[in-house]
Amino acid sequence: MNNNTSYDIAIIGGGLAGLCAAIHLGSHYKVLLIEKQVYPSHKVCGEYISNEVLPYLLELGIDPIKEGAKAITKFEMSTRDGILIKAILPLGGFGISRYALDKLLFEKAKITCDTVQDTVISVDLKEGLAATKTFQIQTKASKRYTAAYVLGAYGKRSNLDIHLKRDFITKKSPWLGVKAHYELDMPEDVVALHNFRGGYCGVSKVENGKVNVCYLTTFKSFKEVGDIDIFQKEVLSKNQHLKRVFEEGRCLWEKPLTISQISFNIKEPVKNHILMIGDSAGMIHPLAGNGMAMAIHSASLVSEILITHQISNPLHRENIEKSYRNSWNNQFKDRLRVGRIIQKLLLSPKASKISLGVAKLFPGIVPAIIKKTHGTVKK
Ligand SMILES: Cc1cc2nc3c(=O)[nH]c(=O)nc-3n(C[C@H](O)[C@H](O)[C@H](O)COP(=O)(O)OP(=O)(O)OC[C@H]3O[C@@H](n4cnc5c(N)ncnc54)[C@H](O)[C@@H]3O)c2cc1C
Repeated sequence: MNNNTSYDIAIIGGGLAGLCAAIHLGSHYKVLLIEKQVYPSHKVCGEYISNEVLPYLLELGIDPIKEGAKAITKFEMSTRDGILIKAILPLGGFGISRYALDKLLFEKAKITCDTVQDTVISVDLKEGLAATKTFQIQTKASKRYTAAYVLGAYGKRSNLDIHLKRDFITKKSPWLGVKAHYELDMPEDVVALHNFRGGYCGVSKVENGKVNVCYLTTFKSFKEVGDIDIFQKEVLSKNQHLKRVFEEGRCLWEKPLTISQISFNIKEPVKNHILMIGDSAGMIHPLAGNGMAMAIHSASLVSEILITHQISNPLHRENIEKSYRNSWNNQFKDRLRVGRIIQKLLLSPKASKISLGVAKLFPGIVPAIIKKTHGTVKK
């Protein structure tokens, strides 16, 4: 990293969205990526990525399948009483751990941009010299940086959302996410989604042959039990498919990773002139299995807009913001809406039984619904 603290573009957060944007923009502009965590680390995530973004990842120089990711073509879903439906995934996808994928992307990003491990505590657009406006960025380690543009890629919930006074941050969210890797015998081309009272659990293989078991549940449902092991035995295992996972599987971690306060409320793709990408712009319900693809896709959208416009011209800011807001809404707004509807259906015992019953009778419905929450292949 050089000593200059002035950049064309600063990216806050180095998850999938931030890292892809850093690689994409790094060969066009002077870019700084600030990530608070050390690489590599595990994240609460189902780790199934739609092929929607495979060509784009290849373009960025990342070949997940070559790195061992498991190609996934089949989908299975069960009701809480274990009724199973099977479908072929319209686009398909692959299974790779965030531990491996974020590390691969980070190694690539380091080549073209400056990277810093620190936590951003404030970011504000201030009037600069010669009537240009620049962002002032301050970090926990008391470092200051300036940048003409800032990408907010800091994920679903961050200290910066409080700083930016975003609406959703004041609302309590009832969701809890739990994830661990297991040793378990299962086919590597399947991603399964099993329902249980108060939530659903994704099961699929990642690059090293381990099985990712990741579930989302309401805090209310979990609080009645209050202990992960008991919750898995007494609530999740009521579904026979999950019973098999927890009885036959061997958890490879001392304890699962957990996160709380996961919000699916509507956010803004542009806030205080910061261009938001990935979960910072909006989060789709994980049952759609599309959050990572959306994060990567939004990085590509914003990068193309920033490369097309001349960012050194201060008059272009308004157009850039407008163009990104429109592209984001065109690409993702409907997917989030469909994700919210499916989530509601699945979590209502009666509605989920009826919907899955219908899906069992008319199996073509499932791929059609999956298509509604997924985009077309991003080149
Ligand atoms: C339970 C669950 C299961 C899921 N399963 C799937 C799935 O199977 N498939 C799928 O496609 N999607 C899934 N998702 C969604 C997916 O995980 C997210 O959509 C995706 O991780 C978003 O990537 P991102 O880059 O926006 O955010 P992240 O990957 O969260 O990255 C944000 C980064 O910003 C950093 N950061 C935060 N604040 C600061 C700060 N102030 N300064 C510096 N750095 C900061 C964080 O440390 C983090 O590394 C799931 C989500 C959940 C909760």
